[in-house]
Amino acid sequence: MRAMIFDGESPRLSLWDIPIPEPGAGQVLIRVEACGVCRTDLHVVDGDLTFPALPLVPGHEIVGRVAALGPGVEALMQGQRVGVPWLGHTCGHCAYCGSGRENLCDTPGFTGYTINGGYAEYCVADARFVFALPEEADAVDLAPLLCAGLIGYRSLRLAGPVERLGLYGFGAAAHILCQVARHQGISVYAFTRDGDDAAQNFARALGAVWAGPSSQPPPEDLDAAIIFAPVGALVPLALKSVRKGGRVVCGGIHMSNIPAFPYADLWEERSILSVANLTRADGEAFFPLAEAAGVRTETVRYPLEQANTALDDLRMGRLQGAAVLTVSG
Ligand SMILES: [Zn+2]
Ligand SMILES: [Zn+2]
Repeated sequence: MRAMIFDGESPRLSLWDIPIPEPGAGQVLIRVEACGVCRTDLHVVDGDLTFPALPLVPGHEIVGRVAALGPGVEALMQGQRVGVPWLGHTCGHCAYCGSGRENLCDTPGFTGYTINGGYAEYCVADARFVFALPEEADAVDLAPLLCAGLIGYRSLRLAGPVERLGLYGFGAAAHILCQVARHQGISVYAFTRDGDDAAQNFARALGAVWAGPSSQPPPEDLDAAIIFAPVGALVPLALKSVRKGGRVVCGGIHMSNIPAFPYADLWEERSILSVANLTRADGEAFFPLAEAAGVRTETVRYPLEQANTALDDLRMGRLQGAAVLTVSG
């Protein structure tokens, strides 16, 4: 099969011809239809995330169809449409797995990082960690839901009760979450890079009540803010924009250093927290919600072989919406 491979040396992926993997006990073989390109993939190829399984097939926003069942798999059917997220495996018995926080498992497996992912024609996945997805939808449209959508949803949950929500960085995650938030009656305030009129217009088109540069305060105090851009300097800015008791949620896996700020900005029970990974329960709640909200994803398609171009476009901020690799129809 064709696979785009990260060799651990260069951030450029190369096209390899490798054997189709065999599903082991409890696993399924999936024929990949499409795979989204996530900012975390950039952190992997740039070495911000250490110890990837090498050589690695990146990609953890996988949409495909079950091509073969490994021994003992009964919950899935051959030909069924499924999605594979970042959380590819958990131990099932550590303190975190035992307390509904499998996203923090002590010995997890991550798709496209410690487990081969979806920048390839086929992948294998632990059958317990794949989600059933709508059969009729376009695979490309569904792909960004698998991480950008899911992590955005988990970030919203952790933001607590909210009527006015700030989103810092209006890319793949924010453009999905904005639609979900609107569906729930939440007013969205979108913060972008200074002068990024295209992103601000994009946010307004998706229903944001206000859009402006992140250097500017919002027109009214927010109940919570979620930061999707990997920029630590946004944390003190976001803290200033939330009301007493408000939360600032950092939604990315990696962020530049957070500059020092006065304690007064944190005072009055404001809090800063991070979101790590996802749980299967997040997915079980999110996918029906995305469908009910009528979420439409904005995507830019690239053939599998052009994964490097997709990563470059994401790195340079040249995308409106989400990059998705098309693999098989
Ligand atoms: Zn565990
Ligand atoms: Zn991701």
